[in-house]
Amino acid sequence: MNDVKFATGENQGLDILKIRTEFPMLHKTINGKQIIYLDSAATSQKPKRVMDKLYQFYLEEYAKPNESHSLSQKATQELDDARKKMADFLGAKSDKEIVFSRGCTESINMVAGGFERGLLKEGDEVLITALEHHANIVPWQLACTQSGAKLTVTPINERGEIDLASYETALTSKVKIVAFSHTSHALGNKLPVKEMISLAHKKGIPVMVDGAQAAPHMPVNMQELDCEFYTFSGHKMGSPSGVGVLYGKKEWLEKLPPYEGGADMAKEVTFEKPTLADPPKKFEAGTMPFAEIIATGTLIDFLNEIDMHKTEQYEQELLSYATQKLSKVDRVRIMGTSGEKEPVLSFHVEGHDIKKLERFLNDEYNIDVRAGDLTAQPLMKILGVPGLLRASFSYYNTREEIDIFTEAVAEFIQNKK
Ligand code: PMP
Repeated sequence: MNDVKFATGENQGLDILKIRTEFPMLHKTINGKQIIYLDSAATSQKPKRVMDKLYQFYLEEYAKPNESHSLSQKATQELDDARKKMADFLGAKSDKEIVFSRGCTESINMVAGGFERGLLKEGDEVLITALEHHANIVPWQLACTQSGAKLTVTPINERGEIDLASYETALTSKVKIVAFSHTSHALGNKLPVKEMISLAHKKGIPVMVDGAQAAPHMPVNMQELDCEFYTFSGHKMGSPSGVGVLYGKKEWLEKLPPYEGGADMAKEVTFEKPTLADPPKKFEAGTMPFAEIIATGTLIDFLNEIDMHKTEQYEQELLSYATQKLSKVDRVRIMGTSGEKEPVLSFHVEGHDIKKLERFLNDEYNIDVRAGDLTAQPLMKILGVPGLLRASFSYYNTREEIDIFTEAVAEFIQNKK
C-alpha cells in the first residue's frame, strides 16, 4: 500500500498540501492504493475550480457566443475575457494575437498548412530539429510534399543538445521558416530558444516554437522570446481537453493563409469568393470548443494565483531530487542530461524491458508513467534505444511520491522481474 505523506511545509512559498486539495484525482485510490501520477507531460490533472466552471457553464450559462440574445452575450463576454487573460498570460501585445485551436497539433498544422498554401514553394526549406515530437515533424513533411519544399533537420549531440554551429550553418536563404520545441517532451531539456530565434532573425527567417512542454512549467513571455508563432495545448496545463493556443505576431497572422474554411472565419461569402475575417477569427472556423476555452480562462486565474515563478522553482527542486535518487539506482541510464531541463526524467534500464517496468509500477504501486518511443521515433533511432521510460512531474507532485517511485524502480531491477 502506498504511504504517501505530503509535504505540508512551505516549498518555494507554495503550500503543496493546499494545492493538492484542488486536484481531486490525486486523492483517488485504485484497489486501495493511492494514485501516483507521474505522466503530466502526456496530460495534466485538472484543478477542481476549472472543472466547476465548465460544469457551471454547461448547466447554467450555456449558449453559443456571438448571437444577440442575452445568454449569448454573456458567453461572448466570457470568451473574450478568456482570450484577454491568455494574451496577458503570454505577454502578447494584443488579444488579437491569440488564436484558439483544438490543441497544439492543430496549432502547428495551422502554421504548416498556411505556409504550404502560399508561403512555401519548390526549392524552399523548412528547418526543424532532431528532437521534435511527431506533431512538429509530420505537418511540415506534408507541407513540404505539397509545396515542393524540403525539410531539413538540425542534429543533436548525445546529451540531447542542439549543435548551434550546425543550426546556424543550416539557416540559409532557402529556409522560409524554422520550427522547434521550447523544451523536449522526450528528454526534458530546454533548447537555447532565445539564441536560436535571434540567429534565425539575423537571416530574416520567422520562427515557430512548439511550447507544448514549456508553457505548463514556466512563465513564457512573447516579447522576451520574440518568436513569430508559439503553440501549446491547454490539456497539459490543467484545462479541459480540446483547447489549444496559437500565438502569432499580428503581421504574421495577417500574412498566414487560413487553415480551414467555414462559418465565422469569413466576413462575407459570395459564390465567387469569401472575404476573410481579421485574425484571430480568420483561423477559428466553425463552432469552437467555447465552453472549454471559457474554463481555460479560469485555469489562467488559478495559475496566476499560485504563481508560475514559484511552481517552476518547486518543480526544479523535484527534478533534481528525483535525478539524484534515480541516478543511484543500479542499471538505470538517464537520457538527456543537459543542464537546464523541465521536470521530465527519461531513462532506460540495462538488461530490462521498460514496458515490463511500466506495468510493474502501475500494478504494484499505482504509479502512472509512460514507456515507449514517446512519439519521437526519429529521436529514439538517434539515441540508439527502442524506447524510454518517462516520469514527468508537476507542482502537484511531492518528494514522497518520488521516493516511492524510485524505490519501486530499484525493487523491480533487484528482483529481475
Ligand atoms: N508537441 C509536443 C512537444 C508535445 O509533447 C505534444 C504532446 N505530447 C504535442 C506537440 C502535441 O500536443 P497535442 O497532442 O495536445 O495536440
